[in-house]
Amino acid sequence: MDYKDLANLIFPEIKDISYYEEKYPRRNLKEGAIVTRFAPSPTGFVHIGGLYQSLIARKLADQTEGVFFLRIEDTDQKREVENGVTDIVNSLKEFEIEPDEGMISETEEKGNYGPYKQSLRKEIYKSYAKYLIEQGKAYPCFCTPEDVEEIRAKQEVAKIRPGYYGVWAKCRNNTVEEMCQKIKNGESYIIRFKSPGREDRKIKHHDVIKGNVDFPENDQDIVIIKADGLPTYHFAHAVDDHLMGTTHVIRGDEWLSSVPLHLQLFHELGFKPPKYAHIAPIMKNDDGNKRKLSKRKDPEAAVSYYEEEGIPEVAVKEYLLNIANSNFENWRRANQDKTIDEFELQLNKMSVSGALFDMVKLLDVGKLAISRMTAQEVYEKAYKWAKKHDEELTKMLDDKEYSLKVFGIERGNKKPRKDIAKWSDVKENIEYMYDEKFLNKKQEYPYQVIQDEEEIKKILTLYLEKYYDENDDKQTWFDKIKELAGDMGYAKEVKEFKENPEKYKAHVGDVSTVLRVALTSRTNTPDMYEIMQVLGKESIKKRFEKAIKEL
Ligand code: GLU
Repeated sequence: MDYKDLANLIFPEIKDISYYEEKYPRRNLKEGAIVTRFAPSPTGFVHIGGLYQSLIARKLADQTEGVFFLRIEDTDQKREVENGVTDIVNSLKEFEIEPDEGMISETEEKGNYGPYKQSLRKEIYKSYAKYLIEQGKAYPCFCTPEDVEEIRAKQEVAKIRPGYYGVWAKCRNNTVEEMCQKIKNGESYIIRFKSPGREDRKIKHHDVIKGNVDFPENDQDIVIIKADGLPTYHFAHAVDDHLMGTTHVIRGDEWLSSVPLHLQLFHELGFKPPKYAHIAPIMKNDDGNKRKLSKRKDPEAAVSYYEEEGIPEVAVKEYLLNIANSNFENWRRANQDKTIDEFELQLNKMSVSGALFDMVKLLDVGKLAISRMTAQEVYEKAYKWAKKHDEELTKMLDDKEYSLKVFGIERGNKKPRKDIAKWSDVKENIEYMYDEKFLNKKQEYPYQVIQDEEEIKKILTLYLEKYYDENDDKQTWFDKIKELAGDMGYAKEVKEFKENPEKYKAHVGDVSTVLRVALTSRTNTPDMYEIMQVLGKESIKKRFEKAIKEL
C-alpha cells in the first residue's frame, strides 16, 4: 500500500487536479496587470476596513487594466447569516466599487473562474488535498477535539509553543497501512498538511506594504480539510488564489503572520505564490489610546453607518484615499475638479501602521464633495436618502422644481456653498426655505443691533412698499437696501459709519440683518438676494407680516 492507495481510499471519486488546471487557464492580461480580490465572510456586517480594502483593490485593478473579483469565504458556516452575500454585494454597489467577477447576489455570479463562493468549491479543494496526500504531503488525522485539547494542555503546563507539530503531531507518523486500517474501521478524521518546515529556520518575505519581514518557518501541521468536508481559510486561500489567478493578495495585516504557512502551502502545491500587501487597520483615538475600529463599540465601523447618516459615498471614498496615500491631499488641492478615479494610488505608499480615522475630517471632505455637485445631483441624492430615512424631508423634496431652486442657491459658481456635510444635514439646512414649514410654526427672531420693535416694523414695511422689486438684478437690489438704509438714517457704507458713528443710527449691514432675520429667522444664511429670488414676493410678504406679528 502506498500514498496513492490512501488518497484513493479517502477521495475515491475526485477529479484529478489537471482537470481544474485546464478548466481555469492562466489569465491573458497585459504585463503588470493586477488581479486582486475582496474575500469577505458573509457574517452580515461589512466593516469599513473591508470597503477600504475593496476600494484599493478596485483602483489598482483599474490602474493596471487588471481584474477585481469578489469571493465569498463561507467555510465557517457557524458564522454565516441570512442574506450575508447580498449585504456585501449591495454595499459595494452602493459605493460604486463593483467587482468584474464574483458573486452578484445570494446565488448568482459572473466570471469564468468560479464558483466564487467557497462552499460550492468542495470538490476542488478535495482534488488538491488528494494531490497532496498522494505525495505524502498531507495525511488523515484521527485525533479527536479532546485529543487536541489534551495536547494543548500538556504544552501549556510544559510552557512550550502550542500546536500540532513535530513530536506532538501524533498522526503524522502513522504508516499508510495504519491510516488505511483506521479509515476502514470507520474512525473519523480530518486532513492535515504535513509541514516540511522547521521553527529554527527563517524565511524572508517581501511584503508590498510592510517591506522586508523575517519569520520562522511554519512547522504546524494545520488542518486543511475539516470534519464537515470544507477547507480551512489557509488551504482555500492557496487553492483559490492560485486557480483564480490572483497576482496580489491585499488583505488585513492580521494575516501577516500566516505568510510563512501560506508560502509553504503554495510551494508544496506547486503554485506560484502571489504578492502580498498587508493593510494596516483603520484606527480610532479612544481617549488618547489608539485602537482598531471595533465592530462592537464603534457605530462608524459598519459600512451601513455612512448610508444611515447620509455621508455621501464619494466623500467616504475620498476620505479613505486620504488615509491610504498621504500624497492624496496635495493631489486633491492641485486637482480640485478631477474625480477620484483620476488619482493614481500607490500600494508602496500605504502607511505601515494604522491610520487614525477622523470623523471631523471626513465631514469636511463631505462638505467639499457636496459643494462640487450640481443642484440636480444634490437633489437626487438627498431625495434618495430622505425616502429611506426621513419622511418630513421627503415631503419637502417632493416639490422638485422648487427644491432644485433651493439647492441652486450659491451653487455652480466659483465659490460654492459648503454648508452641507451629509444628507441628514439637509432638512435643518433648507427647512426655512419652505413656506409650509416656516410659516406654520412660531419662529425665534434673533435680531442683532437693531432691536427696537417700531424700527424693525418700519424697515420691513418700507422695504416691501418702496424698495423691493423682484425683477431687480443683484446690484440694483443691493443699492436699494442702501437707499432704504440712507433714507432711514443709517450709514449706507460700513466704512462711513465707522468713521462717524455719531452721525448714524447704525449701518446698512444692520438693516440687512433685520431683513435676513425676518425672512429666515437666522443670522447666517447663504446669499440673501438669491434667497429672495427663490422665495418670491408673495412669500417674502407673508414672512415679513409674520415677523411683525411675532415681534
Ligand atoms: N475571509 C478572510 C477575512 O475575511 C479573507 C482574508 C483574505 O483576503 O485573504 O479575513
